[in-house]
Amino acid sequence: MPAEAYDVIVVGGGTAGAFAAATVASEGLSVALLERKSEDERGHIACGDAVKGKSTFPDTIDLDYLREESFTNESITSARFENPQSGESLDFGFGGVTGAVVDRKRYGEVLLEETDRQGATINYDTVVHDVIQDDRVRGVKATRNGSVTNYEAEIVIDAAGALSLLQDKADFSESTFDTNVNYTQFCSAYREVIELDEPVDWADTLVFKPTEELGYLWYFPRSATEINVGLGFQMNKPPMKLVEVLKDDLKKRAEFAGARVKNKLGAALPTRRPYDSAVAPGYLAVGDAAAHVNPITGGGIPGAANAGYWAANAAIAAIEAGTPDDEDALWEYNHQVMTGFGKRFAAMDLYNIWGSGTELDEILDVVTKLPAEHFAETVAKSGSTAMGMATKVKTAVKTFGHWGMLYDLHRVNQKATELKTIYDDYPTTASGLADWQQRRDDVLDEVYEITGADPKY
Ligand SMILES: Cc1cc2nc3c(=O)[nH]c(=O)nc-3n(C[C@H](O)[C@H](O)[C@H](O)COP(=O)(O)OP(=O)(O)OC[C@H]3O[C@@H](n4cnc5c(N)ncnc54)[C@H](O)[C@@H]3O)c2cc1C
Repeated sequence: MPAEAYDVIVVGGGTAGAFAAATVASEGLSVALLERKSEDERGHIACGDAVKGKSTFPDTIDLDYLREESFTNESITSARFENPQSGESLDFGFGGVTGAVVDRKRYGEVLLEETDRQGATINYDTVVHDVIQDDRVRGVKATRNGSVTNYEAEIVIDAAGALSLLQDKADFSESTFDTNVNYTQFCSAYREVIELDEPVDWADTLVFKPTEELGYLWYFPRSATEINVGLGFQMNKPPMKLVEVLKDDLKKRAEFAGARVKNKLGAALPTRRPYDSAVAPGYLAVGDAAAHVNPITGGGIPGAANAGYWAANAAIAAIEAGTPDDEDALWEYNHQVMTGFGKRFAAMDLYNIWGSGTELDEILDVVTKLPAEHFAETVAKSGSTAMGMATKVKTAVKTFGHWGMLYDLHRVNQKATELKTIYDDYPTTASGLADWQQRRDDVLDEVYEITGADPKY
């Protein structure tokens, strides 16, 4: 069987894999990125295409070129929440920050062009189907044009997306790698890109509408006449007929009359907390493969980019120190994720748990009665906004009958704040993980008790 050897093998040519491979190559180490899609299909990934305004990306790649080529709408200034029952809607401004919607295919192509420019080897049409492992991971087996190649490496970076096949193949029993992963912690999502003759008058707004299955429909304008429309459901709920539900909703909206579908695609995405540890000897997982996604909004592009960059730096340091087999040598990567976006995503996940133990009707009823800025703060930042006394009284009257639920939400909010401080204390070495997990799990137990929800983990 033919073999190729590199310092680093990256599996997957999405955002996480491209940033990881470009970073390794930019530091002069040898790296091969293996992608199952063809070169023509690169960048074709199911996504809502929205990027939050405050998102920061590592500058390993030419970010100006990326923006010029793929950011088709950079004037997103607010989000709209539609109540499917009452027909009312609430608009939340982004407070002067603008978000963007991208042409996701072109965005993915540019990332890989830049990865190539940095000197990485990119093999398309290459399907990884197994992991090479003894006392540590040493590479992967992949099929290309019908022939199998062993790709050997000091370190493998798993950027193969949600429910990565590599994690089914590798044996993590002697490592800290998080294997408490189940499909019910994921969301199944589907999107279409539609073209309109007439421009929509909300081209500066991301539109969301909740669905029964603990998910939401979205309408994200790539431009005033090209809209990314999609929906998803949490896989602990009965399956939802995604294509039909979307079609029905589109029909009800006058602005979509005569819409032409340009592209359709579906995929799973993690709507769970980030993996407690995404490292094992010789191995790191990044992006969706380690659940680096905001579990409320499904936004995973910035997490994937940063995780790819951090993982590559950890891999480079471990290879240069001659310790790719030592989890502690890779641990800085876990620490950066958890004390960076990880703590925020883990805190947001508590609202998913709360939602799974609460009726949607009640949530919707309360949401439309709460002051918009208070609701936005609670969900967007999992923090708290002080309400004035007059607002408090008005809100109390309007939400009469739902105070029990609001009290629970308030307590979940407090637990979210507590959880973030625990993530700030994420251990600096692998040996501290078990104690840290116990502290974190104690908070989760309290959340299950408050919400009456079934344990998610
Ligand atoms: C419908 C939908 C809507 C979304 N909307 C948004 C949004 O609006 N904004 C946002 O920020 N995020 C959104 N996300 C999430 C975002 O798309 C992901 O978090 C992000 O793409 C993760 O990047 P990644 O590189 O980790 O994985 P991916 O982009 O999934 O890339 C994984 C790559 O690995 C390749 N691969 C997989 N298995 C193998 C194998 N065995 N061998 C070789 N190659 C393999 C795949 O072909 C793919 O190219 C959405 C996700 C979905 C599904």
